[in-house]
Amino acid sequence: MSQTDLLIVGAGSAGCLLANRLSADPSLTVTLVEAGGAGGHPLSRLPAGYSRLMEHSDLTWGYRTAPDPATADRAILFPRGRGLGGSSAINGLMQVRGQAADFDGWAQKGCRGWSYDEVVPYFQRTERYDGPDGDASRGRGAKAATGVAVTQVVERGPLLEGFMTAAQRLGLPYNPDYNGPVQDGVAWTQQTRQGRWRSGAKEAFLDPASRRPNLAIITDAVVTAVTFEDRRASGIALRRAGREERITARRAVILCAGAIGTPQLLQLSGIGPAEVLARAGIPVLHDSPGVGRNLTDHYLMRMAWRVRGLPTANERSHGLALVREIARWAVKGEGILTCSAGMITAFIRSREGLASPDIQAVVAPGSWREGRFGHLEDEPGVSMGVWQHRPESRGEVEITSPDPAAAPRIRPGYLTAEEDRRALVWGMRFCRRWAATAPLDAHVGPEALPGPAAESDEELLAVARSRGSTVYHPCCSARMGPDGDAMAVLDPELRVRGLDRLYVADASAFPAMTSGNTNATVYMLAEKASDLIAGHLAA
Ligand SMILES: Cc1cc2nc3c(=O)[nH]c(=O)nc-3n(C[C@H](O)[C@H](O)[C@H](O)COP(=O)(O)OP(=O)(O)OC[C@H]3O[C@@H](n4cnc5c(N)ncnc54)[C@H](O)[C@@H]3O)c2cc1C
Repeated sequence: MSQTDLLIVGAGSAGCLLANRLSADPSLTVTLVEAGGAGGHPLSRLPAGYSRLMEHSDLTWGYRTAPDPATADRAILFPRGRGLGGSSAINGLMQVRGQAADFDGWAQKGCRGWSYDEVVPYFQRTERYDGPDGDASRGRGAKAATGVAVTQVVERGPLLEGFMTAAQRLGLPYNPDYNGPVQDGVAWTQQTRQGRWRSGAKEAFLDPASRRPNLAIITDAVVTAVTFEDRRASGIALRRAGREERITARRAVILCAGAIGTPQLLQLSGIGPAEVLARAGIPVLHDSPGVGRNLTDHYLMRMAWRVRGLPTANERSHGLALVREIARWAVKGEGILTCSAGMITAFIRSREGLASPDIQAVVAPGSWREGRFGHLEDEPGVSMGVWQHRPESRGEVEITSPDPAAAPRIRPGYLTAEEDRRALVWGMRFCRRWAATAPLDAHVGPEALPGPAAESDEELLAVARSRGSTVYHPCCSARMGPDGDAMAVLDPELRVRGLDRLYVADASAFPAMTSGNTNATVYMLAEKASDLIAGHLAA
């Protein structure tokens, strides 16, 4: 059995950052354990490559949601990254912090220390922003010695410029930096990209620390449980190459296994709702009703249109045109290979009286084949994705067996709240108006998805139920909260309540969904966790 001071489980966005920060203290030994491999995949480094990796058997966990009548009883593909970099190695590269009100809301829920003003310095430490027009709150220079590279999209062209003009004609102001204090408006998306390449957690945080003698990185090792002496976390059990092993942690165990992996591992270790553990045949160490509950995710409706008379990514994705794109990418770092999930991002208010946007919409200069995301259509097309920012629907993650290799049951609860259905239908109508506004009206149409047959709210909702999918932002499934909050799995300093020396620092710890894509907030949370944990160790 080997020993270390700090054990970090999961080398995703949070785990890689924490491994870097905590191993910066040479007096501590740190061991990072990851279920997936170290090898990665060449497409993962390419910004446009992510769309081909969602179902990759080595780079993802292969999850699907439990069928739910609210989403037409489908088992929706639910990718979670696996391997060094975790989900940051397969994500859509969008850097969106969320709104100041999100973090002030976290503090108002009793999570002391997480208000906007208190988290901005942590956001700064995690990024190296080198795009134009950055707000003063961005990470640059000495504020961010090691951080993820963030810049604006470079691939624009007449179709996307047309969307930018049309949005402003519809009344959305141009926002030079939606990652400043004001999110409203339309903007060129900010990507976690360093020139031609993705800047993920592995490249930004793990690689620079990987040669430190006090950091051990173990891959291809599935952690099967946290081990305890009484109620104190003493280490982990893991399975590697068919063998069971144990590692002892002298100071603390930190779970960074993500919004699905972390509640799964807690439940496998006897920490969770007693009835869930009993059903799965796991003895209860600590009855914590919030573990796996409050799962929150964004639910996306992708819409598509045919395009006339303007270039799209579709016809440039094969044959000679693709060879030209590869050359553009290699020589200038431009072209469709630098495209990611959304090249234009808009933040919109769906009704009077809202204090901030509740809808996010993105534009991509291509359209995908039915049921085959990542495979562009042959005919020219454009697509928009739209979702409600702060869903009220809640779901859960539950183990159904004591076998760590069995996938947990994931039920995100999409569209189970009335407000989520209203907001999504409003967003779909807004995207329709956007695509029909000059100068786009001359080039964009007819609508391919949902298609003109869907007119009424009921018809639009029916399409959303049967065609929508995740935006890949699950969070809050082991959330923090104040004393007295029975569903709070963690205290506001990320310690698992009721147990000692056990932390959670990843997307599952969010007390509430943020108004944006989640990766930047995971980095911020992990950055703050590194200070909190170092403070506890020194006390
Ligand atoms: C396809 C996709 C597209 C996305 N697009 C964007 C985007 O454009 N912008 C954005 O901001 N966010 C995006 N996200 C979300 C964002 O990437 C995640 O919120 C973030 O990476 C989560 O970080 P994490 O550290 O919580 O978990 P992860 O990065 O998922 O890391 C968890 C790690 O733990 C490992 N693990 C799990 N269980 C075990 C175990 N038992 N033993 C050992 N290791 C284990 C996993 O293999 C994984 O490496 C996307 C996500 C996906 C999947």
